[in-house]
Amino acid sequence: MQDVLNEIARAMAAETERGKVADYIPELAHVDPQKFAISLATVEGARYSAGCATTPFSIQSISKVFTLTIALGKMGDALWSNVGREPSGDPFNSIVQLEHEGGKPRNPFINAGAIAVVDAIMMGHEPKETLAELLSFVRYIADDDSICFDHTVAASEMAHRDRNASLAHFMKAFGRLRHDVDKVLGTYFHQCAIAMSCQQLAHAGLFLASDGVNQPSNIRVVSPQRARRINSLMMMCGHYDASGEFAFRVGLPGKSGVGGGILAIAPGQGAIAVWSPGLDEYGNSLLGTKALEMFVQRTGWSVFGH
Ligand code: GLU
Repeated sequence: MQDVLNEIARAMAAETERGKVADYIPELAHVDPQKFAISLATVEGARYSAGCATTPFSIQSISKVFTLTIALGKMGDALWSNVGREPSGDPFNSIVQLEHEGGKPRNPFINAGAIAVVDAIMMGHEPKETLAELLSFVRYIADDDSICFDHTVAASEMAHRDRNASLAHFMKAFGRLRHDVDKVLGTYFHQCAIAMSCQQLAHAGLFLASDGVNQPSNIRVVSPQRARRINSLMMMCGHYDASGEFAFRVGLPGKSGVGGGILAIAPGQGAIAVWSPGLDEYGNSLLGTKALEMFVQRTGWSVFGH
């Protein structure tokens, strides 16, 4: 397996078309587009990496998988009265569909949906309490207490929050948010500004590959049914309006972030994290997707078979 990852890293290093680093969050624009990393954590406990797999990067929307897991743990299926479960077919930060559907976001992975999820998790708590809970959950599933928020990235996003603030105010006008909009946004931006390496991210995602059980601690994080449902949401909605394309090319549940990371889950096999900061026109990592496509071709681990 190490040979497969080395081959992928070599192939990606040779690529000249690397996509465009996100610059609508100015702090992310400084990231070097040449960076590449891939890590695999298997359910049997093996770990493989290639590239700069211990370098932390901004996980951005990949964090939505973790907040969704926490929200479902707190309120179960009641969450779905405020957040849908359908692919949006619209860009990650789109507002159009909210107006037609009573301010209810299509799914928990578009920005509007993730903002509604974080509002649900807050449940009358102050942002710092919610963030402490989120950070301890992520540190627990990654088995790594060094994971932190990048406050500079969070501040950069808060300073350029107009688009996400519009989504939040619009939902609030429909009675979908319970908390003060700036407190919800501040919490959401910190959530997105968690910095993790590919090694940490692959480890953190492993419970979704092993029926909800964290490895190697063997402690259950979610039920098998919940792990299956989170995976199916990742498959259907994890890449915004390019989710169909990702399923077509890779065939694994996956969640991307505008920091250039992707977490992909091969149920029963392992979790794969990739990072290449350049994005395609949909805001998904250009080479990250290519690397995962190559990975499933080599391993046959797509959920749809070889
Ligand atoms: N923090 C980003 C935003 O709200 C997340 C988007 C993403 O990673 O796709 O715009």
